[in-house]
Amino acid sequence: MLEVKNLTKIYKTKGGAEVRALDGVSLQFPEKGMVFLLGKSGSGKSTLLNVAGGLDAPTDGEIIVKGRSSKDFSQTDFDSYRNTFVGFIFQEYNILQEFTVEDNIALALELQGKSKDKAAIEEILAQVDLVGYAKRKPNTLSGGQKQRIAIARALIKSPEIIMADEPTGALDSNTGKQVFETLKKLSKEKLVVVVSHDREFAEWYGDRIIELKDGKIISDVSKVNETQEAFSENVSVVGENTVCVKNGAALSERDFTYIREFLSKTSGAAIIANGNKEISDFKKVSRITDDGKKETFKSTDHGRVEQRSYTPEDGKFIRSKLPARHAFKIGASGLKSKPVRLFFTVLLCSVAFVMFGFLSTLSFYNPTAAFKESMKNSSYTSVRLEKVYRSTETQYQNGALLYSSARTDSTRFSPEELEEYRQTFGKETFGAIDCSHAEIELQNQNVNYWTGSVEYLAHLSKDNPLRSNIQGSYPENANEIAITSYTADAIVQCKTVDENKQVIEVKTANELIGKQISFGEKFYKITGIYNCGPLSKEFDSLKENSGYDRALSQKFNNYLQDGLFLTVFLSEERFDDLADSSQYRRHLFNNAQQIALYDENQEIDNERFIHSYYETYTNTFHKPGIVYFEDGKTAPAEGEAVINRPLFQDLIEEKIADYLNESINAYGNLVYSDKYKNVPWVDWTNALESGNTDSLPTESDPLYDTYLEWSKFYTAQRYAWELSTINEQYQHGYKSVEDESGNWDVYYFTGEEIKAFAEEILAWIKNNNVTFTIYGTPLNAKNNPISSEVVSYKVVGVQEFYAEREDLAQSPWIYFAQKTVDAIWDTQKTGINWYSTFQTKYQEDVNVKYHTIFLPFNSSSGESLNKITNIYADKSFAEDDSRAYLSGTLIDSLERATDLVEQLSKVFLWIGIIVAIFAALLLSNFISVSISYKKKEIGILRAVGARSLDVFKIFFSESFVITVICIVLSIIGSIVACLGHFCLSRIL
Ligand code: ADP
Ligand code: MG
Repeated sequence: MLEVKNLTKIYKTKGGAEVRALDGVSLQFPEKGMVFLLGKSGSGKSTLLNVAGGLDAPTDGEIIVKGRSSKDFSQTDFDSYRNTFVGFIFQEYNILQEFTVEDNIALALELQGKSKDKAAIEEILAQVDLVGYAKRKPNTLSGGQKQRIAIARALIKSPEIIMADEPTGALDSNTGKQVFETLKKLSKEKLVVVVSHDREFAEWYGDRIIELKDGKIISDVSKVNETQEAFSENVSVVGENTVCVKNGAALSERDFTYIREFLSKTSGAAIIANGNKEISDFKKVSRITDDGKKETFKSTDHGRVEQRSYTPEDGKFIRSKLPARHAFKIGASGLKSKPVRLFFTVLLCSVAFVMFGFLSTLSFYNPTAAFKESMKNSSYTSVRLEKVYRSTETQYQNGALLYSSARTDSTRFSPEELEEYRQTFGKETFGAIDCSHAEIELQNQNVNYWTGSVEYLAHLSKDNPLRSNIQGSYPENANEIAITSYTADAIVQCKTVDENKQVIEVKTANELIGKQISFGEKFYKITGIYNCGPLSKEFDSLKENSGYDRALSQKFNNYLQDGLFLTVFLSEERFDDLADSSQYRRHLFNNAQQIALYDENQEIDNERFIHSYYETYTNTFHKPGIVYFEDGKTAPAEGEAVINRPLFQDLIEEKIADYLNESINAYGNLVYSDKYKNVPWVDWTNALESGNTDSLPTESDPLYDTYLEWSKFYTAQRYAWELSTINEQYQHGYKSVEDESGNWDVYYFTGEEIKAFAEEILAWIKNNNVTFTIYGTPLNAKNNPISSEVVSYKVVGVQEFYAEREDLAQSPWIYFAQKTVDAIWDTQKTGINWYSTFQTKYQEDVNVKYHTIFLPFNSSSGESLNKITNIYADKSFAEDDSRAYLSGTLIDSLERATDLVEQLSKVFLWIGIIVAIFAALLLSNFISVSISYKKKEIGILRAVGARSLDVFKIFFSESFVITVICIVLSIIGSIVACLGHFCLSRIL
């Protein structure tokens, strides 16, 4: 039935040394009977038992079970072999603490796929004398009782082999004897292999004793019965040293002689006993059976070991199957062992789950789809398009790259571009200027609903169908406008004043047609009212003057801005004027180089404004603002420069001071001379100022020479005054104008006026031969002089003075010829303190006009939706580095949402990963702790016949429980997070 061949088992210790626990052991076990494995501690007994019982795989050699060789066994087969044929009993009883006596026993049955058979269990318990203990928990039993439970468990499967490893090692000798008696009883039917180091017990109970030393068999003896040989009728002999005499025998002389001879051969004492007890005790000790045979051990005759032959059918194994509820029970019991660790493991896992959950939710967010959906549900009838261009800004310091970064800046659309959009989106498309300065002044603006703000200035071309929305007529003259029905209502509700400061009293919007109203420092006649449709009722509560709903107001502002409500329509003439005027210009960066000079000694003339940017000017560059040149010039030549407004201002102030000094000298000479005591200076001044020159001296007048002298002074003074006035006015791109009623208003210069002014300046510069001078020795960052001599540059041009953003317009750049800059560049490159470059392919058209293009939109038209969505989805820049994009509050919030989603995704991903790593570490630590905690239980289960799969089930169920807790917590966590978000969004 069981045979082992050449078994070798080598253990590797942690130090790397090899321990040969079994060294080529070959054995045939009998079909039944009690076989003892004897030997000193460490001799390999347990190893042999475990390998033969299929608990441990041999390093080499094989076990043969009912004709099947372990060489063909899979791990499962080892487990199944154990499950089917072997019942294990250990010294430490090895019963599961969580299970009752009954369940411990039933487990062995259940592993064989049989159901718990209460009657059978009771019967087995009776066999081990433990009737009535079925429901007890192991911790209420004594050692002997536990061991008998273990035996009962081994027996319940009716295994053909019982393997017991020092089963009595932990028991007192009386209890031990009981155990051996039980095993002996069983060995009548089965093969019982017992490991022991107790030779006495082995000889007493064993049918065969196999002795091991250092993993090798050193003796293998079997019990044989020596039969009684009759010497005479009354005397018989067993073995070599027992003589038996029949009761009441009359011994013959021959008998006595024999007995005497026997006695003479012994050196010790001989016992002659009488009485049944003594005899039976003696027999027991001398191992003489009742029929007079004597047990002794003789070397095992291998040929005589009983061996049956087996068919493959006999060797069929039953696969173990641990019921899920047991696996679960054992698995779950492990969780109780480390509650704190479990808590943190579960917590971290849940957090990681929640993070990844959020991440996966976020990854489903599709900005384009969200846009399309939002637009579909919106009430928009138009969407706004704006244009930006990108450039790369690179900064260097002391010759080293400081940083390089992309930037985008606003630019405008040209009429040609507008025309292209009209081709695609229809004739309702129109362009507008972003109007941030002007507004219609309302008298009593005490509710949040009405505003006189104007966001857009627009012009609708003659063929624009939107013109039909205008009640009245479209403005044709520069001083005419059309306002929206919302603005008209605002005026009706809140009143405004006309040119005469009279409140315009109207009851309906239509009555406003033909009235003059003040808009952006000018008066315009309203020729028509653009019907922008009814406003959403949602905002009606803002009409009440009670309370202030900040959120609703903000929403309303956005609503107004997204529609046409805050638009003023202008005539073509006025629109073009404004589009070209200074206040709507935008600052453009270009392929410029800026070089900063280090001016420690402040020796550069006008250092305040240079601080100190040099710039080349070539026609291929696009420029910040526009540069006006002297007639015929297109770029500065060597020795020439184009100056900027602040620098010009400085130069001009210097000139003014010169004039004034000159004139004051002249004036002093004149006025304080006695000779001129009676000269009518005041009359002359008045005459010149009023233009009434009749009273001035003529050539014939004796005062004429004096007058000429004086008029030089006057002219100089006058010119200084004029220059300072011009300078003052043009500093900001606007001037103050006094209207008829004596109010001061701001007036922005138009492009034409600026150009005229620039020409005036250029003429003045030319006439006065203005130069821009670098005196002394300005130093670069390495304290090397940039130029060793006084260098003067002739001013040949001025930059346009006012771009939209004054701070940028004032970039105090000075343009030099490329050669001049190259010279500085080449010699001083690494010494130059700071410089930066802007690179872009973008060149703004000269005739750009529109900050914004309004595209018509129809939310119920799929085609319209698709066209708009295409623009939204296209985030790429055109060949020329420009990009048109949709703007508006909906888009802003979508962009914010998309940004948020991207940021959060990153955050969730990283937090998720980090937490997951910690969770995994904790989890694996938890499992490994619980493995060591369960090692004993696993050992028991494996001994009883559980497969690896069953053990896996236990850990699986443990992990499963953890996972379920995690999932539940994650779901709760997610719900809480969502609720929290919901509540927060309600509160904010
Ligand atoms: P016995 O049961 O006869 O006391 P064992 O079979 O338990 O002896 O052990 C035989 C030898 O193998 C001993 O030297 C023991 O230290 C070694 N041994 C047993 N199990 C292992 C193991 N898991 N790892 C390393 N060495 C082991
Ligand atoms: Mg042992």
